Amino acid sequence: MLKKCIIDNCTNTSDQGKFIGEYCSPCHEYITQKKGIYSQAYRNSNSLEPKEQIIGKSFHPCICPSVYFLISKDKEIIYVGSSWEKEQERIQRHKRSGIPFETITILKFPEFSPEELLQKEADYIAKFQPRYNKSIPKNERWKSLSDIRVTPELKKGIIYSIAGLKNMAESGKIESVKIGNTLYINHEKLLKES
Ligand SMILES: [Zn+2]
Repeated sequence: MLKKCIIDNCTNTSDQGKFIGEYCSPCHEYITQKKGIYSQAYRNSNSLEPKEQIIGKSFHPCICPSVYFLISKDKEIIYVGSSWEKEQERIQRHKRSGIPFETITILKFPEFSPEELLQKEADYIAKFQPRYNKSIPKNERWKSLSDIRVTPELKKGIIYSIAGLKNMAESGKIESVKIGNTLYINHEKLLKES
C-alpha cells in the first residue's frame, strides 16, 4: 500500500523512495540522528513561519507537542505558548486569564522533544515579540544577561562582560530582543562570533 510520510507538510510517498515505518528516509534520518537537512522534518524544525501565514491558518485542536498563537481582533499575535496537553483546556485557561484574543492558531510538531518544542516557542516569541509574553522560556538560543552570566563560555572568559554585552545589544552589534523587561541575546550567534 502507498504510504505518505507522516511529518507535517512532507510530500514524500513510498513509491518515490525508502520508508522506515511511517517516515520517509530523510525525515527518519533527521529525527533519529539530526542529519538529513534535505528533509521536511529538518525544515519544520528550523524555519519559522511568517506572521501572515500563522494568522491565516485554520484551527485544529490536538493533543500533541504544539506551539500556539493567540491572535487579537486586529490581527496581531499577542501571545505565543507551547503545549503538550489538550488544547481546549489550555485555551480556557487563557480566556480566564484575560488575554483579549479572538482566534488561535496551532502549529503541531509531533516529532519534537520537550527541548525542541521550547526552542521553537522561544524563537517565535523572539520573532513576534507578542505583547502578553513577559519572558522567553529556557532555551539554547535566546538567553538573558543573567543566563549568560552563568554559561561556561563566560566563565572561561571567552566572551564579554555583562555591561559590554548590553552595549553591543543596544548598538545592534549582536542580535537581541526585549521581552517584558528582559533583554535576550542570540547566544548561538554570540558564541560563533566570539
Ligand atoms: Zn518525510
